[in-house]
Amino acid sequence: MLATVLALLLLQNPPPANGSQPPPRPAAAGHRVYLCGGSRSFAYHASPRCEGLAWCTTGLRTATVAAATKEGRYPCGRCRPAR
Ligand SMILES: [Zn+2]
Repeated sequence: MLATVLALLLLQNPPPANGSQPPPRPAAAGHRVYLCGGSRSFAYHASPRCEGLAWCTTGLRTATVAAATKEGRYPCGRCRPAR
């Protein structure tokens, strides 16, 4: 009898299913970074004041990390933007 009650309690309260939810998207994917608009630029930057952008004369613009990566840009080695 007691075993039956325990079994019913277990059926009514199943243990929480852990690990079934997908991991959260990394916040860095939507992080805005700075790039030089010229076609000869290949890096994206965490700061518009990065020395890697000092020589840029073709116009500064912003993009998300995802968009910059899709363009073939890589993170600047000086200001180390989030990936
Ligand atoms: Zn930089």
